[in-house]
Amino acid sequence: MIIVVGGGPAGMMAAIRAGYSNREIILIDKNFYLGRKLLLTGGGRCNLTNTCSTEELIGHFSKTGNFLRDAFKAFASKELLSFFEERGLKFKVEKNGCVFTIDNKASSVRDILANELKKLNVKILFNQEVQKLLIDKEKKVVLGAALTSGNAVLGEHVILATGGVSYKETGSTGDGIRMAEEIGHKIVPLRPGLSALNVEENYPKLLEGLSFEKARLTFTALNKKIFSKEGTLLFTGTGISGPATLALSAKIADALAEDKKIKLQIDFLPDMDFNTAEKYLIRAFNNAKRKNVKNILKSFVPERLADTILELSNIFHGKDSNIITVEERKKILSFLKNFTFSISKDVPFDKAQITRGGVSIKDIDPKTMESKKIKGLYFAGEMIDIDAECGGFNLQGAFSTGFLAGKSAATN
Ligand SMILES: Cc1cc2nc3c(=O)[nH]c(=O)nc-3n(C[C@H](O)[C@H](O)[C@H](O)COP(=O)(O)OP(=O)(O)OC[C@H]3O[C@@H](n4cnc5c(N)ncnc54)[C@H](O)[C@@H]3O)c2cc1C
Repeated sequence: MIIVVGGGPAGMMAAIRAGYSNREIILIDKNFYLGRKLLLTGGGRCNLTNTCSTEELIGHFSKTGNFLRDAFKAFASKELLSFFEERGLKFKVEKNGCVFTIDNKASSVRDILANELKKLNVKILFNQEVQKLLIDKEKKVVLGAALTSGNAVLGEHVILATGGVSYKETGSTGDGIRMAEEIGHKIVPLRPGLSALNVEENYPKLLEGLSFEKARLTFTALNKKIFSKEGTLLFTGTGISGPATLALSAKIADALAEDKKIKLQIDFLPDMDFNTAEKYLIRAFNNAKRKNVKNILKSFVPERLADTILELSNIFHGKDSNIITVEERKKILSFLKNFTFSISKDVPFDKAQITRGGVSIKDIDPKTMESKKIKGLYFAGEMIDIDAECGGFNLQGAFSTGFLAGKSAATN
């Protein structure tokens, strides 16, 4: 019997691949349904993989990406897309090679996996939580899994695919990482990845929900630029989010962990240098005759940002543009080109899409995903110390490691 713990993308793919061997497979998940986090991916559209080459795929992972070479050799994006295509999924390739379902529904991906499990007669235990692994400590062999209900499931192979610790409401609460540690595996400290960032100031509350298709984010420490990126920016109630923020969040979290004080400067007009933006503003103020300053600013930025800028600059919203002083204009300009926030120390796990850290790759055989410490135990997905940028890479990592773990368990 092969026991798979976790019904996310990694666990489902592991159970499917193992299921092709005609072995008895049991999949256990603590939720009432499969792929709870998968349904949230890509804003509900599921960016399931990326069309880039395997070498590029590895490059999109952080330092531990090389560990995935064998998993990608066994099952990379080409094989993943064939798997889904053969089972009726239609998909489209968007910007930067990101692959989405054509119907924009993550549920289409989940349903194909669930149907395949059914077809293969994989037994699924829903609403059952694995509490600990049963191990023969002397022989260092896995014997099965003990459930919180008091029951146990016995099997000669266990694949742990319980995910990380972000979005805990989806069931990913780090149980597998804890269980792996309890039986001697090294755990690389868990940190949030692809996360929104909080700021110390209160104004994001006024800007919550505003999104900017193109803004430049520049992060500084001790007045020195450390990271900078242009992209879509979204204000949350407590800070910022959006692709550019998520992409830089891991580096920011690491810098904060080194006790650096980090400032963020937002340039809302990244296509104009400071002088051009100033000329634009002067022309707009002069040409507008007796228009009030807020109405002019609204042609540059959304109304709520215009209000906030005027508030922070101490300028009356209804003031005529032709009596704005040079000093006031410079203040407005500095908010448009260089709106500064202090990044708060806590990078929120509850807003992180992924978990960095997890079971150390040093304790896992990359050719099989089997533990180097306990025979018959395999790992797959986000609970391993692997993490990547946005772009479908994390799901591909989960599917590939799941596939290899399932294949190895079925053939060992
Ligand atoms: C909002 C959001 C959007 C995302 N969008 C994308 C995207 O578009 N593209 C992309 O590549 N990645 C995306 N990701 C990341 C991606 O979802 C994860 O990397 C992926 O789901 C990891 O798969 P997994 O199977 O390892 O773990 P999970 O998907 O976390 O699955 C783990 C499963 O294990 C179960 N489990 C946990 N503990 C136990 C236990 N003790 N007993 C029984 N069952 C247990 C859980 O209930 C859960 O179902 C996104 C993540 C989030 C949060």
